[in-house]
Amino acid sequence: HGECIPFPIREVSMDQVLELKNIHYTYHTLDGETPALTDISFSLNKGEFVAIVGPSGCGKSTLLSLIAGLITPEKGLIKINGKYLRESTTNEVQHMLSAKTKARAHELLEIYGLKNFENSHPSELSGGMRQRAALIRTLVLEPDILLLDEPFSALDYQTRLNVGDDIGQIIRQEEKAALLVTHDLSEAVSLADRVIILSGRPASIRQTIPLIFDLKQDTPLNRRNSPEFKNYFNLIWKELNSDE
Ligand code: ADP
Repeated sequence: HGECIPFPIREVSMDQVLELKNIHYTYHTLDGETPALTDISFSLNKGEFVAIVGPSGCGKSTLLSLIAGLITPEKGLIKINGKYLRESTTNEVQHMLSAKTKARAHELLEIYGLKNFENSHPSELSGGMRQRAALIRTLVLEPDILLLDEPFSALDYQTRLNVGDDIGQIIRQEEKAALLVTHDLSEAVSLADRVIILSGRPASIRQTIPLIFDLKQDTPLNRRNSPEFKNYFNLIWKELNSDE
């Protein structure tokens, strides 16, 4: 009680899986320069689900490509599990198929209704099925951070709710973290712990909105039916459209 800390202690969270600091990125092409991101800083903790929304073409996918290590920031730092991300570290990784991952894949195929399509060619699957298969491929590798770029857009409404629910549970139970890029504000509000709103290109962070729901069971469907839902939706909508 009344304890005071005499100097600021740098917060070193064991739980932080991702940290971005002052990230800048510009595409250089023959046609010229396209600044895509300016001064992006945020972090992600274990068990956290963060949604990123912003105008089309503002730089959302670029942000995920940077975190995935596909491209390198022009300025700024990215840390994953406390280690700086370098190009070299991104090419190793996870292509192992063990007995365990195979068993997990079978389990997920069953859950997502793809069991009978296990040996099908992608062209024999519907768009929604292909998207579910892609998600299963990601989940089998058990990454610490799920990078999701519009992963549900080809799913019908019912499946989208179910898959979103599953992903949310996996993230929280298994202490993973997820970064979801979506243009669907309802999806962002129904799934995320926080929504990061980006400005138009070059994207900077306009605002971060923590989503807090007073619910016994915090599921996407319950959120959609809650009184807070509309308020958050409108808040984000307004913020997104206050540019123009
Ligand atoms: P979003 O995902 O928000 O729609 P992107 O990150 O895909 O936006 O793109 C941001 C901007 O960068 C866009 O103006 C796009 O045209 C440009 N851009 C994306 N990829 C490239 C590339 N490989 N070369 C040049 N410009 C690109």
